[in-house]
Amino acid sequence: MNDRLGADAPRLIILLVGAVGAGKGTQAAILSRELRLPHLASGNLFRAAMAAHTELGDEARGFMERGELVPDEMTIRMFMEELGASRAARGAILDGFPRTVGQARALDETLARQGERIRRVIYIDVPTEDLIRRVAGRWICLQCGTPYHETTDPPMVDGHCNRDGSVLTQRDDDRPEVVRARLERQVPPMLEVVDHYQRAAIVDRLDGTRPIEEVTAEILSRIGETAASA
Ligand code: AMP
Repeated sequence: MNDRLGADAPRLIILLVGAVGAGKGTQAAILSRELRLPHLASGNLFRAAMAAHTELGDEARGFMERGELVPDEMTIRMFMEELGASRAARGAILDGFPRTVGQARALDETLARQGERIRRVIYIDVPTEDLIRRVAGRWICLQCGTPYHETTDPPMVDGHCNRDGSVLTQRDDDRPEVVRARLERQVPPMLEVVDHYQRAAIVDRLDGTRPIEEVTAEILSRIGETAASA
């Protein structure tokens, strides 16, 4: 659908918002393929910078290891650089940034200086108790990396990998009490960002409890309307 955009059409910059377990990463990957736009995930960008031992990666490491947000100034600098890169020439799917109102304002101001703006904010809404059930049901085989889910994708033999029979493990940060704590920290600032964009009336709040394909179809239809009205 993005093919309809001419060379001088405004960039299609879409922000995906959702808590851990809402399916944001899954949807971002599908949308990136469908719309042929890069998926810019701030967490992945920081992890890549850390792995490559860039100055930014080394500065961000401590914050990430403590599970804290990286300071706005560094995050904004890193993300704006990515958004300015040639691979984002036709637009991008933003994931994980902006995560604070300060970041949102800085992003808006930079885009406005270029005559641009975030075109659509897609908020994938899933009630907290569902999120905990989804994330806390995740198990993984440490031998081969195959993920399972207690209710939606259980192994054939309880607690063992279908492929190699290894005992399945639960990640420490996927345990219910840890997930709850992560959500309590993560959700309020996320809602503030949604609220910030609600003022510009560009937020689509979607029911994320539905099957993946249904959520994708609705997102694509909303983005289609946005692209057509450019
Ligand atoms: P994520 O993969 O989105 O959970 O991000 C992993 C870590 O990267 C977070 O815990 C933060 O330390 C850092 N991070 C990612 N995005 C941001 C952001 N927008 N603002 C500040 N820190 C971020």
